[in-house]
Amino acid sequence: MASSDWGYDDKNGPEQWGKLYPIANGNKQSPIDIKTSETKHDSSLKPISVSYDPATAKEIINVGHSFHVNYEDNDNRSVLKGGPLSESYRLCQFHFHWGSTNDYGSEHTVDGVKYSAELHLVHWNSAKYSSFAEAVPQADGLAIIGVLMKVDQANPRLQKVLDALNTVKTKNKRAPFTNFDPSTLLPSSLDYWTYSGSLTHPPLYESITWIICKDPISISPEQLAQFRSLLSTVEGDKAVPIRHNNRPPQPLNGRIVRASF
Ligand SMILES: [Zn+2]
Repeated sequence: MASSDWGYDDKNGPEQWGKLYPIANGNKQSPIDIKTSETKHDSSLKPISVSYDPATAKEIINVGHSFHVNYEDNDNRSVLKGGPLSESYRLCQFHFHWGSTNDYGSEHTVDGVKYSAELHLVHWNSAKYSSFAEAVPQADGLAIIGVLMKVDQANPRLQKVLDALNTVKTKNKRAPFTNFDPSTLLPSSLDYWTYSGSLTHPPLYESITWIICKDPISISPEQLAQFRSLLSTVEGDKAVPIRHNNRPPQPLNGRIVRASF
């Protein structure tokens, strides 16, 4: 497995990542199972404050194992503050994780319960660092909001994103994606759990302040099928869909999960 070849199959998936990325077996890996009886309410945790300018939405890209919606991040027009954070973090992209069937697909689980998908809103510490690339390996470099997605009724707020998938069917395709405020995807309650963890795929840096919303949002079986219809292969090659792209929960290793509620 070359460093660019990691994926989610038996031969290049999560069980193999440690061969090229030893940090895969580190002490602060993500995702985790959140055991609610072991979380600690912390009254010093502030509410999450998100302020996203829809005009900073830039493009959608098929990255082969998922798709990313990227944002302009050269200024502070779209930022995350508050919560467990002492600084301002700039939005750079959001993406999703899903499973090959509806009974799994989230990365974080709650009391062992698997959800069908998970949304990640990725931000970097723009108060301290000058770019995502500079921030990504730093202990306080990134903050990711995770939103669990429960299979249920269709979620109309996802429609603009799902409609755009047709424009990036194959790996490396990119298309403009503009005028979208991803805070519309958040649940109505912003109660959250927070802990220190890692990127959930290579390079697996332990640089993430995770903020996991307590409440899930909905997604329908048909909408999940649209995620799975994206292809991991380049145009012209035999089509292979992205069936699943979720890493299983990792050991907590004594970390404390704090609750805002
Ligand atoms: Zn992710």
